Parts: sequence; C-alpha cells; structure tokens
Amino acid sequence: MAARRISSLLSRSLSSSLPFSVRPKGYSTAAALENPIIPNVEIKHTQLLINGEFVDAASGKTFPTYDPRTGEVIAHVAEGDAQDINLAVAAARKAFDEGPWPKMTAYERARIILRFADLVEQHSEELAALETWNNGKTFQQASKAELPMFVRKFHYYAGWADKIHGLTVPADGPYHVQTLHEPIGVAGQIIPWNFPLIMFAWKVGPALACGNTIVLKTAEQTPLTALYVGKLFHEAGLPPGVLNIVSGYGPSAGAALASHMDVDKIAFTGSTETGKTVLELAAKSNLKPATLELGGKSPFIVCEDADVDKAVELAHFALFFNQGQCCCAGSRTYVHESVYDEFVEKATQRAKRRTVGDPFKSGIEQGPQIDTEQFQKVLRYLKSGMESNAKLECGGDRLGSKGFFIQPTVFSNVQDDMLIAQDEIFGPVQSILKFKDLDEVIQRANTTKYGLAAGVFTQNLNTANTLSRALRAGTVWVNCFDVFDAAIPFGGYKMSGIGREKSVYSLNNYLQVKAVVTPLKNPAWL
Ligand code: ADP
Repeated sequence: MAARRISSLLSRSLSSSLPFSVRPKGYSTAAALENPIIPNVEIKHTQLLINGEFVDAASGKTFPTYDPRTGEVIAHVAEGDAQDINLAVAAARKAFDEGPWPKMTAYERARIILRFADLVEQHSEELAALETWNNGKTFQQASKAELPMFVRKFHYYAGWADKIHGLTVPADGPYHVQTLHEPIGVAGQIIPWNFPLIMFAWKVGPALACGNTIVLKTAEQTPLTALYVGKLFHEAGLPPGVLNIVSGYGPSAGAALASHMDVDKIAFTGSTETGKTVLELAAKSNLKPATLELGGKSPFIVCEDADVDKAVELAHFALFFNQGQCCCAGSRTYVHESVYDEFVEKATQRAKRRTVGDPFKSGIEQGPQIDTEQFQKVLRYLKSGMESNAKLECGGDRLGSKGFFIQPTVFSNVQDDMLIAQDEIFGPVQSILKFKDLDEVIQRANTTKYGLAAGVFTQNLNTANTLSRALRAGTVWVNCFDVFDAAIPFGGYKMSGIGREKSVYSLNNYLQVKAVVTPLKNPAWL
C-alpha cells in the first residue's frame, strides 16, 4: 500500500517537472528545492536492534537524523554507545556459541537469506524512498539500481552458503588430512553513509553465508534503512542475536566495537584515517583480523584513440555518480594532449547540463551532499582549486541557499601536486589533467597513496592490456566504470585498504581454516 502511495506521488511530481530532454542548461531545478517532495513513507524503526528486539539505548539518548535536501530533522534515533555494543556483542556471542545459526545446515541458512531477499523485493519501493530521504541520492538510482543490486547480493551469498567446504590434503605420511572451513564467530562491521544498503549487503551477506553472527554499526548520518531491513531479516526467520544493529557515532559505538575483546573479526568501510584507527584498536585489543575498504583517488585515463563523446560521458559518470560520494570515483581525469581541448570543452558542457535538484524528482541526476560537514569540506576544496593555477571551467559554488547542493564543477589544467588532485574530495568536482604518453601517465596515475580503482578508455587492446597491468589498483575498469556485480571482487592496494569484498574472495574474511589430521591405520592405502 505504501508502495502505491509513493508511486502516485512520484507520478504527480513527474508531471510538475520538466522532462529531462528539454531541460534548459543544467543546475535547473533550484526552485524545486524550496518545495521538496515529502515522501509518504513511515519511519517505523528508530531503536537499536539487539537480540531480535528493538530497544532504546541504555543511556536513553537519541540523536537526530536529517533530510540532506533541507538539513531538517526527519527522525530521532536511539544513540548506541559502549554499553549497547556490550549488550549487542553478548547477544551475538550467545547466538554463535549456543544458538542454532552456526549449527543449522547451510541449506537452511540459505533458505532464510533467500526469504529475506524476497521480503526486501516486496518492500523495495518504500526502502528506496527511505534511502533517498535519509541520504539524498536520487530515487531513480535507489529504486532502479541499488535495491535490485541489494537483492542480487543476497541471492549471490545464499548461493554460496552450501558450497563452502574444505579440502582433502595429500600429506606426506600415513595421515588422513582434511581442512574444515568454519565461521570465525562474532563479526563486528562498521559501514559508511554513501551507500547504506549496498554496504550492508557487502558486509552482512558473506558473514551470514559463512555462519557467523554480527554486530553492525551504521553510519550516524544514515541509520534508517538498515533498521528496516534488520526487521525484515527477523521476519524471514533469522534467529535472535544473529544480526544486531547499533546506530551511533564512530568514536563511541564504532570504537567500542573495533576494540571489543569478544568480537572475533572487524570489517570497516570509510575514510583512510578512520581505517587506521580501527586497525589500531583491533590490534591493541585482541588482534582480531580486519578487512578495510578505504579512500581512493582513482585515475580515469582517456587515451589518444578515444571516441571523445563517449569518453566524456563515461568520465562524467565515473566522477559525478552518487554526488561524487564514491570511494572509487574517477577523480583524476587524465586526458591525452591530442584530444585534451575537445575533451575539456565537452566535459564542461556535460557538467553544465547535469540536472541538480530534488532527488525524488524524475530527470534529476544529482541530489544534495550528505551533510553540512561534507558540504563544507567540498566547498573548501573548491576554494583551494580556485586559488591554485587550475582553471575553473564551470560550477565552483553551492547551489541554492537551502540543503547541501553543490554545482557540478570542472577544473582543467590541474597539476598532480595540487590538493584537488591529491585528496579525496568526495564531491561533484572533476579535475582534468593533460598527459603526453603512456609511460608518463602510468607513473603519474600511480603516484598516489591510494590504489582503489582506475578507469581506462581506449580502443587499442595493447594499450588496455599495458595499462591494466601497470596500474596499481584493486579494480581496473576498461571502457566501463562502476561495474559492481556481486561476483567481482572489490578492494584496495596501498592505503585504499586491506582485503577484498564481494565475490568468492570475500568469504575468506569470515572463515577460519582448521586442519584435521588423523593417522591412517593401514598405510598401504594412502
Ligand atoms: P566519513 O569521514 O566519510 O564520514 P568515517 O571513516 O569517519 O567516514 O566513517 C565511516 C564509519 O566509521 C561510520 O560508521 C563512522 O561512525 C565510523 N567511525 C568514525 N570514527 C570511528 C572510530 N574512531 N572508531 C570506529 N568507527 C568510527
């Protein structure tokens, strides 16, 4: 019923907004920001989810969560801290040591995960609306791309549950040797705000498929959708204590989780600085293994043979997708000198055409940044770019006077040593740099502390092969970008992180390998 309400609301908004194709020249919907669409979705869950029940924080405290379109409060959410983390870890511990989850057959676990995916599908429009409301990403993106991807991720991991098994090892001696792949135990997981549901899936999917129990801390900016899907997981038959969700701040709830002595593994996605803190807390407490997915400053390399129009569109997508709030954003656009001028001209025109406004409206490509802190940070980088010798081609300021909207911005003539070419801006700011030859661009692209991803745009197979092997990054997208299928591993080289998420590789993060060695009575039958 709620889904119908939202659809009718969206179709009303459609008729009151211009179709995308006749939109004048970008930044065109500032007026819409004065009158934001109020999604007709009820915020049902704002408490902590511990041991299968929604409960208040032990301190009784709450914190506000916002609509980034307006900066207005949309709900008050229970604020978990160390006390709540203790309760959640105790529930997860009991569920692991005594509960049915790790002991039930892998097939039964898969069935519960699949039932959950079905429930999410049934509630997907309401969930997408909640994601847009709390995060500011476009409803189009949330409903058409992220919710289906979320469901797909759980289908993928349900598929793995009963295919996780060890080996029989031909040891040198009269022994029967086998390896058992066992769940690690209680997994602590800390996720960021830029893809609240997708990050939930990347973390929770493999941990549950392997039979672990979980304490998940959501980002303080976006606590709502995880609580909603947490409820659905229990409706699907997940036993109490298997998935506990604590909303709260990083230095209190997050740090308590990373340093907890009874948490067996920690997985984190966020900034490199916070990742270092999490690793330190993990090492100083009980030496729990850590998976870290951190920052990036990905090069996107447009070679001399490129079809410029296509390269412009892909480079635009690589940077501006999700308001530029992607750890793997193609935020250093290297363009060969032979096509540079044409590229800059066309990239600027494309950025000017980008439609910014109420993310609930059809045809809008860009919503607001997540919060005032990120908004101010991006504005500081815009100032830094304008004070350098980079050339501001378009944008460079906020959009409107309400909420956290920023004009799509393009800087050309960017040099490698400028702050805007070195730091992760996490906003809609494209930096274009000129290069002369492949050796030079390889060296420059790799001269960064990050190594999360890279994009290569060329029609020449040899160039593609050379670049994809030479670039020090966890993912190289050739003539594509941001392809995030569940089966493709994702993670960083260098200070972009440790370990891989998604894919078969992610299972190793949540498994212990036990060797079982038994003497053979009759060595003749080795
Ligand atoms: P950003 O700067 O993009 O918000 P952070 O890395 O600070 O990224 O945040 C990502 C996640 O890490 C959030 O859930 C946040 O609450 C959490 N976090 C922040 N500080 C800490 C900390 N000291 N210990 C553990 N988690 C933290």
